[in-house]
Amino acid sequence: MPEHQANICAVITETSVEAARKAMRQAASEADLLEVRLDYLLDFDFTRVDNLGALLENHSLPVIITCRAFDEGGQQQIDNSIRLPLLVEGAKRFADYCDIEAAHYHQAARLSPDLTKLIVSYHNFEETPVNLSEIYERIIAMPAAIHKLAARANTLTDSLATFRVLQSAEADGRTIIAIAMNEAGVLTRLLGTSHGSFLTYGSLANGKASAPGQITCIELRDLYRIHQLTRTTQITGIIGNPVSHSVSPAMHNAAFAMHNLDFVYLPMQVDDVNQFFQRFVQFGNREMNWQLRGFSVTIPHKVAVMPLLDEVDETAVKIGAVNTIVLDGAKIKGYNTDSTGAIEPLKKVCGLAGKDCAVIGAGGAARAVIYGLLENGARVSVFARDLRKAQRFADDFDIELLPIEGLENHQADILINTTPVGMLGHNESRSLVAQSSVNNFSIVYDLVYNPLETRLLKEAKEAGCLTISGLEMLIEQARLQFELWTGRKPSAELLRQAAMKKLYSVGELSPPA
Ligand code: NAP
Repeated sequence: MPEHQANICAVITETSVEAARKAMRQAASEADLLEVRLDYLLDFDFTRVDNLGALLENHSLPVIITCRAFDEGGQQQIDNSIRLPLLVEGAKRFADYCDIEAAHYHQAARLSPDLTKLIVSYHNFEETPVNLSEIYERIIAMPAAIHKLAARANTLTDSLATFRVLQSAEADGRTIIAIAMNEAGVLTRLLGTSHGSFLTYGSLANGKASAPGQITCIELRDLYRIHQLTRTTQITGIIGNPVSHSVSPAMHNAAFAMHNLDFVYLPMQVDDVNQFFQRFVQFGNREMNWQLRGFSVTIPHKVAVMPLLDEVDETAVKIGAVNTIVLDGAKIKGYNTDSTGAIEPLKKVCGLAGKDCAVIGAGGAARAVIYGLLENGARVSVFARDLRKAQRFADDFDIELLPIEGLENHQADILINTTPVGMLGHNESRSLVAQSSVNNFSIVYDLVYNPLETRLLKEAKEAGCLTISGLEMLIEQARLQFELWTGRKPSAELLRQAAMKKLYSVGELSPPA
């Protein structure tokens, strides 16, 4: 394998030899090498090195054998007197590498391992220790082909220590694997190989991960295109908390691939937005060596980012929230694409000037929707469950405020639900509008996109209303973000396909009948 090629390593975590062999065949078309986690196997005789011959015969990819020590995340307690000879001898006879923990290095060294096939590894499942660089220095003193550090990131900023280790290894000319585990460390799994990591680990299916935060091999290869990423790739992504279920990486990465752009879109779980700006974004301060082009901002940071920006577009100022950031030269600029994104699907089906609109909910999404409706000449009434809380909201826009119960006797051209009611896992079987009242409205628009057809939309369709799903807004706001970063506008159809694929694949939607 050439140096610095991005390698995807499929981790085999099956519990039977037969299933492991099958998984290895699957890995052949999805990965560049594979790691067989022997400690997962329940029907394997660890005392006989020869058994590895049958397990590993006919594999087409380079193989790492690992039989992780129990105290470093291993699945079974296997004595070192069995485990270490299995790995050392197994690598000599049947595999390309064996992975042995630094804590057991000296015992393994007495067995005269083939150093060209040895990976020495350090794991920390609790945290990224402040002295990770010292740990790196300590493990590289143990002669081996490859050194590996895997530490848990509890916040995104913990990943910086892993990137620093990669930098040191590059300066030292060493082959290294460095990964920050956990959701907060995903950045290292996606960008690590373009920053010098020998490989990144991937699972063969959701639910088969051997460590927290691990992504599937197919996603690494096809969604994040990690083989194509370099240090000049333009970086975009989404900051928020949580972000793991965001559909945006699926949409934007599909569009980058389709437009043949050297861009990638990454999920970034950010808890402290000030720290993120200081250490990852601001020129002069940032510790991350990357070509950051911009990012989406989601809950809970849409308002908190505003004082951190050099410029905020007028629409975003009026809405009071930013959902898109663009790095333009040395300037950090904020925009809001939610408003236009929400209104465009409506404008496709009717003119808005003079239309009466009933908006349910007085949160962030309602703010973007109502701003857009008013800009386009519509008349708006807002319906909220807590009138005292919503009064300031209504005053900001100078619109009528009514209780949700008032919807029953309210007639309007357009009804828009901006609350999460009807969303999967959040009152999914509920609607805030009585079935008998939905035909008070001609058009019913639900910002919820998961499921595609909420109870409100189903009942509205049955009553003969024209219905619009929140997926349309999701797609439109993403198209506008993409345009801000690249100057190109992807087709709505491409983003729809990508979003639907992601939503179905994580089992969040039932495909339409
Ligand atoms: P938010 O700022 O938390 O606002 C939610 C609003 O809904 C608040 O006014 C809240 O009332 C109200 N609400 C919540 N539960 C309610 C209930 N059981 N009965 C009555 N009112 C209730 O959230 P957001 O950012 O506006 O997002 C709201 C929804 O829009 C989410 O489902 C989100 O997925 C969806 N959304 C979709 C898109 C898209 O692209 N399609 C974009 C953005 C948002 P209180 O203030 O009284 O709590």
